[in-house]
Amino acid sequence: MYEGAIQDLIDELGRLPGVGPKSAQRIAFHILSADPADVTRLATALRKVKELVRFCTSCYNVAESEQCRICRDPRRSEEVLCVVEEPKDVVAIERTGEFRGRYHVLGGAINPLEGIGPDNLRIRELMARLGSGEVKELILATDPNTEGEATATYLALMVKPMGISVTRLASGLPVGGDLEYADEITLGRAFEGRRAI
Ligand SMILES: [Zn+2]
Repeated sequence: MYEGAIQDLIDELGRLPGVGPKSAQRIAFHILSADPADVTRLATALRKVKELVRFCTSCYNVAESEQCRICRDPRRSEEVLCVVEEPKDVVAIERTGEFRGRYHVLGGAINPLEGIGPDNLRIRELMARLGSGEVKELILATDPNTEGEATATYLALMVKPMGISVTRLASGLPVGGDLEYADEITLGRAFEGRRAI
């Protein structure tokens, strides 16, 4: 182990997701030998993300103002709403270029083993949005794994009685995986081939 600041940095980096002790050490020494201007930029980016980024008050995507870029765009359809688990899923779907509606970010999926139930997700907020009557189709784009399927089933049961058409992305997505890991073409096709549930 090292002393002082370098060890503190290794410890902090090691707490990040996907960063093991060896990577933490390699990154810490990379930072130590990097140009001071580069390190300052990194430190500023870290500070700013906590200061400036918040959640869109309509869809709960990440935003730097009251509403996110997508909710502020008047060209996007109000009639189709796509439900995803996380902001990174919005990015994955946007990359396909297949979708011109709006999003609703749940903030996770139903997972009884981890104590995450419907009340821990932004489902109440979703129901409030649907209550306005503008949405004609709800696309359930939760992850193709057990939790994502459970969440989609739960939402379909709640939303169908409201007379809104409910669809789920077509198969072909890697089962058990994360939406964000699907390539653009596969995800784009799954979107086009979505089916009513
Ligand atoms: Zn938004």
